[in-house]
Amino acid sequence: MSGFSDSATTLKALRAVVQEFIDERDWSQFHTPKNLSMSLAVEAAELMEHFQWLTPDESRQLSADKIVEVSEEMADVFCYLMSMANELEIDLAEAFEKKMNKNRMKYPAVEFRGRFGLDDPRPVSE
Ligand SMILES: [Mg+2]
Repeated sequence: MSGFSDSATTLKALRAVVQEFIDERDWSQFHTPKNLSMSLAVEAAELMEHFQWLTPDESRQLSADKIVEVSEEMADVFCYLMSMANELEIDLAEAFEKKMNKNRMKYPAVEFRGRFGLDDPRPVSE
């Protein structure tokens, strides 16, 4: 492939690849925020389908072939997410940073470590 990697490829470069793919096919006319949000959810469902009947342990021990299939669905989700960001001119890294800051405020580690929520009866883990 091209040599893309998480450590060396920027979101800006990936977003440009998605935009070029869409422009070459004149698909912007179809890539409305409405359609992109729905497509993103469809691809997320395709991702979930791979895990639908697995036990929690099985879901952590996927075959190499299954990992490839799962990675393709994750790429589909990511592709639509980037296309939506392009369409709405949203800076994803900035949005991510803001949302993570909100998450840190909403779920302080001192209260939520090892617990899924305030109703979780488990004590805070060390
Ligand atoms: Mg797919």
